[in-house]
Amino acid sequence: MNLEQIFSDHLAEQHDLFAKHVNAQLVRVLRTIGFDKQYVRAQGAYLYDQHGAQYLDCLAGYGVFNMGRNHPTIKAALHDALDRDLPNMVQMDAPLLAGVLAKRLLEKIAVPNIDTVFLTNSGTEAVEAALKFVRCASGRARVLYCTQAFHGLSHGSLSCNGAAEFRTGFEPLLPGCEAVRFGDLAALEAALRDGDVAAWIVEPIQGKGVHCAPPEYFNEAIRLCHRYGALVIADEVQTGLGRTGKWFAFQYWNEVPDLVCVAKALSGGFIPVGAACCPRRVYDRVFSSMDRCVVHSNTFGRNTLAMVAGLAALEVIEDEGLIANAARRGEQILNGLREMATRYEMVKEVRGQGLMIGIEFGKPKSLKLRTGWELVQRLNKGLFGQLIVVPLLSKHRILAQVAGHNTIIKLLPPLVLSDADVDWILTAFDDVIAACHQFPGAAWEVGKELAKKAINQSLP
Ligand code: PLP
Repeated sequence: MNLEQIFSDHLAEQHDLFAKHVNAQLVRVLRTIGFDKQYVRAQGAYLYDQHGAQYLDCLAGYGVFNMGRNHPTIKAALHDALDRDLPNMVQMDAPLLAGVLAKRLLEKIAVPNIDTVFLTNSGTEAVEAALKFVRCASGRARVLYCTQAFHGLSHGSLSCNGAAEFRTGFEPLLPGCEAVRFGDLAALEAALRDGDVAAWIVEPIQGKGVHCAPPEYFNEAIRLCHRYGALVIADEVQTGLGRTGKWFAFQYWNEVPDLVCVAKALSGGFIPVGAACCPRRVYDRVFSSMDRCVVHSNTFGRNTLAMVAGLAALEVIEDEGLIANAARRGEQILNGLREMATRYEMVKEVRGQGLMIGIEFGKPKSLKLRTGWELVQRLNKGLFGQLIVVPLLSKHRILAQVAGHNTIIKLLPPLVLSDADVDWILTAFDDVIAACHQFPGAAWEVGKELAKKAINQSLP
């Protein structure tokens, strides 16, 4: 196989190939908003296109690249593992590296009762395992999840998804899964009262929209769950491994969850891996006899390269002080954006923790701007967010995303950001937000153009 040849033969047809054989609608979106770049190299927090232009990656592969892309330590560990010709996926054995990764991960979780790990290939698979385990351990069928929640898109996780747009077309979903309003303790208690709930699953910060709740909410919610005999699953697939300024976001609370789901950054940005971490009493109910030793299992979950990537990722996050950097850079960005909120009326709220940040825009008060806002909303509900992310990329070379609700922009950069990167982000936001506070103006014209393109563009 000659990679060089593949790149030189096919680079020009990159988007056409993807549209033809993988996902045409995604390519249509990329082309409409001008995100159809050709990134050919990546390092740390940066992507580079075929002309050598540098982009700041504030999407980080949906939160995979906490350590930055192509980290040399992780690459070296993977090369080393390959060069050793290690036995891999023997299956009828107990791989050493799986045991070591589980031990080290549990040390970071640091909840004495959480002492076993089921290794998976992805975040949604970690959630699936957790859902099966709590049902099996409790003998109860009901699972509570939060409005706006996102736990992955396989069927069990989707049954705990708080957004209609993901669920539609895939029903019926798993019976017994019920939404409770995020942040609403009374609703949670009402749902728990019959004493038949297996678990409440929750993201410490909701990824779709970066919705936060104070630690008191989580503390009281956990106490309530335990009072009614329900387990608590903290889905730390996105918030975990330093993202929020602690190893895990639940470490901001006083109470602790019973199960913790991890994935994304555990991959080191290379090999998919996830984990459902749970207490022995849950584990023992599931794997209750020798007959049931693989009653929940998978083929690739403990594969060597995934274990190596996980071990190297933990080491890099620790050794390079990335958690403290996430806290520090996050505070700088939050402060900078909050200062902008005092100057720009459409910035409704800036929220988040560490390097998981949401900027919510809202309807302006002044008449002129309101005309623009309403026009854009009428053209397309999803359009306003694009007025921000499109110039962020085209003018400032910052890759960011519209999160959940269409007026929320989310930043999820690698945890390796420097002072200069923070300046890059704040300067760009100031410019882009200032532009959309001038109506009529170029920013709003971009909106109209996008709407026209979206209507006119036929499928590639
Ligand atoms: N849980 C949370 C909180 C997530 O943010 C995600 C993905 O974004 C998942 C689960 C699903 O992870 P994966 O995409 O690896 O299946």
